[in-house]
Amino acid sequence: DLKLNGVTKDFGSARVIHPTDLDIRDGDFTVFVGPSGCGKSTMLRMIAGLEDISAGTLEIDGRVVNKLPPAKRGIAMVFQSYALYPHMSVFENIAFPLRVDGLPQAEVEAKVNRAAEVLKLTERLDHRPGELSGGQRQRVAIGRAIVREPSVFLFDEPLSNLDAALRGEMRVELSRLHGHLGNTMIYVTHDQVEAMTMADRIVVLNAGYVEQAGTPLELFHRPANRFVAGFIGNPN
Ligand code: ATP
Ligand code: MG
Repeated sequence: DLKLNGVTKDFGSARVIHPTDLDIRDGDFTVFVGPSGCGKSTMLRMIAGLEDISAGTLEIDGRVVNKLPPAKRGIAMVFQSYALYPHMSVFENIAFPLRVDGLPQAEVEAKVNRAAEVLKLTERLDHRPGELSGGQRQRVAIGRAIVREPSVFLFDEPLSNLDAALRGEMRVELSRLHGHLGNTMIYVTHDQVEAMTMADRIVVLNAGYVEQAGTPLELFHRPANRFVAGFIGNPN
């Protein structure tokens, strides 16, 4: 499990995440949703280890990891703007983290081929990123994140650069991927539809506070307050 105990973030004198308790169960697809500036990316970056935690503790499988560097947390993050290496093939783009780890060629091939199969990129492994569609490029970026088989994936608005049709397609693919891998995924979006359709559990953030955490149905039928009701789209 991934546990936040009173996790807080201050930038100088500005408190952008107020003390937050959250328990994220292994294998859950959790969606952080909330308006621009509410603290979604900051929350993810603290979990990934890219941002210090000002107060409180973050636990992974019962161990406090506040001081653990990103590479040692077993977490992979996919960003909104994903940078692929334009001069490398799709294969080498996905293989990159494994090359850094110094894995032998046979293992690299086995792992990249498996990731490519899950992401339906097998036919594209010899192509350069410039020869791919936006959705395919996004899948390569996801491939690079999953190839090391992290136990936790963090996605920060990974679909926001795609058009509506592609976004719908990728939503389905990410859900399928989650079904395949069964690992913990935390997905950030400001899109309620994405939250409602993809999540096992939704965490609604507003101005650095968790307004409510629950299943899509709980939030829809029993919103904790007007903000949640308005945001999730229940007119009551
Ligand atoms: P968006 O949906 O627009 O991506 P967000 O929910 O991801 O928004 P954050 O990027 O987490 O929001 O920002 C939360 C708050 O923290 C904002 O008020 C932002 O201005 C502030 N903030 C973020 N990073 C820093 C920083 N490095 N220094 C100071 N303030 C910051
Ligand atoms: Mg953000």
